Amino acid sequence: MIQRTLVVLKPDTIQRKVAGEIISRFERLGYTIIAAKMMNASEELLFKHYEWIGALLTRKWQKVFDLTSSMMRGWPVFAMVLEWIEAIDVVRKVVWPTEPKSAAPGTIRWDYATMSYGYADANALWVVNLVHASATVEEAEQEIPLWFNESEFVK
Ligand code: UDP
Ligand code: MG
Repeated sequence: MIQRTLVVLKPDTIQRKVAGEIISRFERLGYTIIAAKMMNASEELLFKHYEWIGALLTRKWQKVFDLTSSMMRGWPVFAMVLEWIEAIDVVRKVVWPTEPKSAAPGTIRWDYATMSYGYADANALWVVNLVHASATVEEAEQEIPLWFNESEFVK
């Protein structure tokens, strides 16, 4: 199935100047960028993204949610919508899982990071993992209109 998925290059990707390398991995797989922008994510947007859709506050605890939201607001992010065959599962597979320490070699979170839940929690850090990617069809359908207006898509 042809699908659309939301990818957000997080502040750590922009700070390390590896956005191009990461985008090229999605392009290499054949995905088309059909909307993209550098932006400052607002607190409201991040609340909707991480709690209304992602249930992060419900799943974890307040400190994790606050850290994630503030780190995502501390620097610009690069948001994009990718389209092509099985975009949601394939892109997520290249990015997944949340904890870089547990990621499979060859995934983005393995290739660019080392953070573990244990170290993050013990040191009041967020889990630095470079990229957000929609995890499910439902998540993608809710996230894409949250980050992009219809007018921001190329024809
Ligand atoms: N996060 C964190 N600590 C945690 C759980 C999550 O810092 O214990 C951050 C991390 O950056 C993660 C994001 O919050 O990517 C969203 O969490 P989720 O569990 O939805 O992971 P994802 O879908 O990004 O793999
Ligand atoms: Mg998630």
